[in-house]
Amino acid sequence: MLKIGICGGGPGGLVAGLALSRQGHEVAIFERTSSYGRIGADINLTPNAVHALDGLGIGEALRETAARPQYRISRTWDTGEETSRLEMQGDRYEAPQLTIHRADLITALESNMKPGVLRLGAQVRTVTPLEQGAEVVLEDGSTEAFDLVIGADGIHSLVRKALFGEDHPKFTGLVSWRAVFPREVAGDIPNLDSFTKWWGPTSDRQLVVFPLLRGEEVFVFATTPQTDWSEEGWTLPGDIEELRAAYADFHPEARAILDCCTTVTRSALHVREPMETWSRGHVTIMGDAAHPMVPFMAQGATMAIEDGVVLALALKDASPADVPAALARYEGARLDRTAKVQRGSLANEWLKKPENADWVYAYKAWEAFDTPETATAG
Ligand SMILES: Cc1cc2nc3c(=O)[nH]c(=O)nc-3n(C[C@H](O)[C@H](O)[C@H](O)COP(=O)(O)OP(=O)(O)OC[C@H]3O[C@@H](n4cnc5c(N)ncnc54)[C@H](O)[C@@H]3O)c2cc1C
Repeated sequence: MLKIGICGGGPGGLVAGLALSRQGHEVAIFERTSSYGRIGADINLTPNAVHALDGLGIGEALRETAARPQYRISRTWDTGEETSRLEMQGDRYEAPQLTIHRADLITALESNMKPGVLRLGAQVRTVTPLEQGAEVVLEDGSTEAFDLVIGADGIHSLVRKALFGEDHPKFTGLVSWRAVFPREVAGDIPNLDSFTKWWGPTSDRQLVVFPLLRGEEVFVFATTPQTDWSEEGWTLPGDIEELRAAYADFHPEARAILDCCTTVTRSALHVREPMETWSRGHVTIMGDAAHPMVPFMAQGATMAIEDGVVLALALKDASPADVPAALARYEGARLDRTAKVQRGSLANEWLKKPENADWVYAYKAWEAFDTPETATAG
């Protein structure tokens, strides 16, 4: 049994915390937010994420509030021509795609946590690696020592900085816009039960549309180019007229979707290069702290969820002395896959044309350490 401290209670930290405490480890998750609220909009859970969450027993709760996009469709910005269509609710991946409010995913994870594991309003100030563990210091000055500390603290990770030094994420030159509107205002706009990406003439403009909240809402994501970015935060207000003007040359169906939006938020898209290692001694990182990515494969939260499951599997039955070897196993199972998804997201060609999506969607985090002989289909 290990005493484990997790910095950050986003999707990655909560999945890791839930899986690790179920294995009998003593876990504390430090989350700076004092209550989660309904910040953020969508989280895209492709079948590989849903399979991982089903293994934690929270899949049913997610299915109650999520929407289930029927197809993943690509269309051309001006002609509306369909260039690919992938079935997302069939049997191929053994789990469906679910699109869900970030808050509903967080609630499903939080409500399954054992009392005392999640410590809200606990902002981590520093993490100091020790010979056989690590120490966490909170903003209120309190200090706690652990056998293992996990940095699940997002793209601006303090734990990553403590391990590997200062390294700012790079602004991509793209601003992302997000909006949600009730399905009923969209009238007969087609394909709103599916995930549709409208590919712009250049890669700095794309419009992504999919259902949320059992199909009662529609989510919209778009990008525009911008030379620099100095603001912070996920929910900066945007001007819907500015967004409509940027898409004025798109197909009428795409423009009709933007006409349904009333309010919109803006945020910057940042990237980092894939890393060669995430761990030092008894400290490691996961999720956006380890491999932030642009959202063009819709895998940011999904990769964090997979990390949480695989990290817990690597630490199964580990004693304090086993931690460095267990972290090496975790990295061995995750570095290449997440780097490939980071690069693929940046290349921004995913499913523009028909392609085999199995390497992403059919991945089973719970089988990460199964040998080919013992791997099972489920
Ligand atoms: C508020 C918020 C809203 C988002 N909204 C969207 C969205 O609408 N659509 C989308 O696609 N993606 C969104 N994302 C990003 C997406 O959720 C992540 O890319 C993905 O979930 C990766 O998860 P993660 O757990 O690795 O990191 P994150 O989701 O970034 O979670 C990191 C957590 O660590 C906490 N934290 C950070 N520093 C500290 C510290 N020093 N001490 C304690 N806690 C700390 C943060 O408060 C946060 O809860 C959002 C992220 C955030 C933080």
